[in-house]
Amino acid sequence: MSNFNIGCLPYEVNGLLLLKSPLLLEKNIKHGFTTRKGGISPGKRSGLNLSFSRYDDPSEPISNLKLLCEAEKLDMKDIVLVNHEHGNTIFTVEASHRGRGITVEPLPPCDGLITRERGITLMTLHSDCCGYLMYDPKTKSIGAAHAGWRGTKKRIGCNMIDAMKERFGAEPQNILVAVLPSICGACYEVDEALAESFLLEFKDERVMKPKNSGKAYLDIEYACALQLLESGVLPENIQLMHRCTMEETELFYSYRRDGLDAGAMAAYITLS
Ligand SMILES: [Zn+2]
Repeated sequence: MSNFNIGCLPYEVNGLLLLKSPLLLEKNIKHGFTTRKGGISPGKRSGLNLSFSRYDDPSEPISNLKLLCEAEKLDMKDIVLVNHEHGNTIFTVEASHRGRGITVEPLPPCDGLITRERGITLMTLHSDCCGYLMYDPKTKSIGAAHAGWRGTKKRIGCNMIDAMKERFGAEPQNILVAVLPSICGACYEVDEALAESFLLEFKDERVMKPKNSGKAYLDIEYACALQLLESGVLPENIQLMHRCTMEETELFYSYRRDGLDAGAMAAYITLS
């Protein structure tokens, strides 16, 4: 992994702890990945739960989202949320889509969002799944994507780069990418057959580690980063945020660890 930038920076504001990518901070791009710190949710999902789908009462995640908006000076009406389907569809966000999935009806199913509209915040939700935040300084465009194992295997990262290329004229060698925190390669136990299908797909031994009795460990962060190289993104322009959502109980929600009790973190990026 030595080719990639590794790590993220903590940013504390109003009692919230947000994680930032040094690569995107350098370009003054407003972005982040939320942690549990600072929210109002009770009990097993205590903290800043931003899952809108796992509970009937939307007032809880909305209250937490308000805290995030105050902390980051975002307007809730300008947020656009992916409509997660564990696929690889990329949706181009226009000014008319402001608020979709938050204050107005959801977008059609999609796991990736790109835009050139200023003032819009692209948002994805995560409870172990990996994902991306992207910025192209040349075409002034941004992207955000959710990448579970299905989306990762379907190369949603490549689709994001292709979409920015085709729809905005971005060149892959200019695009900066943060690969988001996820369940790590030492924790993500899957069926060996699934892990081997990743090995076949990406042809790099580091995407999996064999275990015994038909199981193996899958490194979804690494698979997400690898496919960016296939698309022509430069390794020095890739930042692996490299935190484990399953191990760091105090900081993150984890579906693998907590099942239906898990809340969700948000990743977000805004073109000011
Ligand atoms: Zn781990």
